[in-house]
Amino acid sequence: MAENEIIIDAIINGEKYKAEKQEARENPTHPNEIVGYAPVNTVEDTIKAIDVAHETFITWRESSIDDRVERMRRAIQKIKDNTPEIAKLLSREHGKALYDSEGEIGVSLMWMEYACDNVKEVLKNEVQEHDNGKTIIAKDAIGVVSAITPWNYPISLSTIKIAPALLAGNTMVLKPSPLAPLAVSRVVEIIADEFPPGVLNMVHGEADVGVELTSNPKIAKIAFTGGTETAKHIMKAAADTIKHMTLELGGNDAAIVLSDFDINDARAMRRLVISNFLTAGQICMIAKRVYVDQSIYDQFVEKYIEAANKWIKVGDPFDDNVTVGPVNNQKQAEYVQSLVDDAAGKGAKIVKLGTILDQELFEEGYFMQPTVVLGADQNDPIVVEEQFGPTVPILPFENDQHAIELANDSIFGLTSSVWGKEEHAIDVAKHIQAGTTMINTAAVQGLDVRFPFGGVKQSGIGREYGKEGILAYTDTHVINVPKNRDLPYIPE
Ligand code: NAD
Repeated sequence: MAENEIIIDAIINGEKYKAEKQEARENPTHPNEIVGYAPVNTVEDTIKAIDVAHETFITWRESSIDDRVERMRRAIQKIKDNTPEIAKLLSREHGKALYDSEGEIGVSLMWMEYACDNVKEVLKNEVQEHDNGKTIIAKDAIGVVSAITPWNYPISLSTIKIAPALLAGNTMVLKPSPLAPLAVSRVVEIIADEFPPGVLNMVHGEADVGVELTSNPKIAKIAFTGGTETAKHIMKAAADTIKHMTLELGGNDAAIVLSDFDINDARAMRRLVISNFLTAGQICMIAKRVYVDQSIYDQFVEKYIEAANKWIKVGDPFDDNVTVGPVNNQKQAEYVQSLVDDAAGKGAKIVKLGTILDQELFEEGYFMQPTVVLGADQNDPIVVEEQFGPTVPILPFENDQHAIELANDSIFGLTSSVWGKEEHAIDVAKHIQAGTTMINTAAVQGLDVRFPFGGVKQSGIGREYGKEGILAYTDTHVINVPKNRDLPYIPE
């Protein structure tokens, strides 16, 4: 093993748990370099972790909120102290530029702090004295939560679940994605260390571990972020034991550029480019289809390409000048390329964007030159599918109604954005089917952890962030004390 390769283990009952098998995680910038090894846990390991979390729930649910908050705040401080090291590890295993990894950890900390600041108020019992006595509405912990997370934002999409679940008195077994398992494991180790053994457990592995985590009768809630197809398997696996579920799934987010968008506003144009290409386009809420009013289409495309060429600098995630790193894995790069090739084969024009800072490195890693696809049809795979990579189609629309129809013509409904004069944009936004619609910004640039986030249609069920993101880890428990009368229709 090379000196800078790291090994992580599962965590069960507060102890590092050695798996029989380990899997290497490569560096997408230099695929011959191994960043570290994650365990490949078995179904038996997973059952062990679930049993421990189930046993621990009995005592943990009785702990005080103040105690839970104090522990979480200590973990927050330790994550802050270790951010430089964790961010480097994330960039090495993931491929995202260092500023992007630091940003992901920053947003994670923002949310953890919000959850600590607000959990007491959100979980406060509501007591109503009324004409027939008294009713207490309590928010109880649910039980053992299984958290299953994807590779694109491994730390923020894990902490988005860990913080509210633990603060609300649940225990957890978390499974990160094998495609970015290392940095998030560092974060989980830090948090788990601050809590009693068994409160936060972690296993690694593939679909067999996922299936156990979604079908085991001791799991009370599933918190999943990942693809829509995987979620369909999860819903089936969970059906026999009726579990709570938060599902944060794929998106094919539309950006609508209205006739009154100022194409000479360089800042807005840069924001739109970032909405398409941050993290090499591998974000659930990236703007994946751009629709532009036909009256400004040609001038818009010209200015957009100019802005994209300025902002996009492809290269080594550790180079300060780089804005876009490689794609996380070869399979994803091939998939994105297949969508671009399909569009080109059907006659679309593919325009290469940005600058490649190091051609030799570009050829070594899973790099793709960002592209814009012009002349694609609404029904082409590049428009219909979630491409999840550095390419975006730009299509014209006839009028606002047409734009709304095109945006809503999708099985997905995660986020969306409208660009133009504020009042006009808000009017259009009201008609879009999405969990969030941003005005003159998009993707993580417009994210605010204080407000609920999630999808409609096949983009998901439930919400994370905001007060809803804490309540999602509770069950409503009504304690009713009727004093004077029963329902009148029951005979004496
Ligand atoms: P994925 O669905 O392939 O994997 C997600 C997780 O599920 C991984 O940990 C994987 O090992 C696990 N898994 C695989 N098969 C399973 C099974 N049968 N049962 C249980 N777990 C199983 O997704 P991915 O490729 O890691 O992530 C990309 C997808 O995630 C994209 O579609 C993206 O839009 C979506 N995503 C959504 C959000 C959101 O908030 N809505 C955020 C980020 C990513």
